[in-house]
Amino acid sequence: MRHNSYIGERIEAIRATLPTGVTLIAVSKYHPAEAIEAAYSAGQRDFGESKAQDLVAKQQQLPKDINWHFIGHLQSNKIKYIAPFVHLIHSIDSLRLLQEVNKQGAKVNRRIPCLLQIHIAQEETKFGFLPAECMAMLEEGIWRELENVEIRGVMCMASNTDNEQQIENEFAAVKRLFDEMKERFFADNDNFSIISAGMSDDHQIAIKHGSTHIRIGSSIFVE
Ligand SMILES: *Cc1c(COP(=O)(O)O)cnc(C)c1O
Repeated sequence: MRHNSYIGERIEAIRATLPTGVTLIAVSKYHPAEAIEAAYSAGQRDFGESKAQDLVAKQQQLPKDINWHFIGHLQSNKIKYIAPFVHLIHSIDSLRLLQEVNKQGAKVNRRIPCLLQIHIAQEETKFGFLPAECMAMLEEGIWRELENVEIRGVMCMASNTDNEQQIENEFAAVKRLFDEMKERFFADNDNFSIISAGMSDDHQIAIKHGSTHIRIGSSIFVE
């Protein structure tokens, strides 16, 4: 485990910069259980994975008090594997997917916490609701009948660019959207409180614009 000793140091260094109320999610995709154990030893309890099968395999192998976040593109046929234990699904990008998660949540008698992924970046390869689409979905109201999911907030990925002003504009737009959603649809729900935004290279900008959950992979795990 000696070769993993930098992991705990990296986590402590990042944590020292975070305002209170911001949760660090260590994105452990592509990294083995030993790397997660090193982070766990440093007190880290929230981990993110982007493939359902990896999430399941690691959940079985590692301590049971870990909060497992699903951050990747979710296929409907994989939901059942993660439904029993997943802590938060960050990547709901359609009403249909939300309905599928609801169905699997019912089977395991859970109300599964979910975020709506907002497509804000300029790259077309990224997933998520367009802001107007997301508002229309909430307006339509079908989500209100889904008793086995709970919408806790939004998630986004900024454009992969060196243009900080653009990144800043994107995070600011998501914050405005979150505030509007809160006011129009979730004013009476204190659990609607999460903005999952910011990765290794842009989390400081995201925090400036209200991020509550940052998802950091390479700056923790890559040597
Ligand atoms: C991989 C990934 C991250 C972490 O990215 P880093 O740049 O390695 O910090 C965060 N969010 C999502 C959705 C990812 O797929």
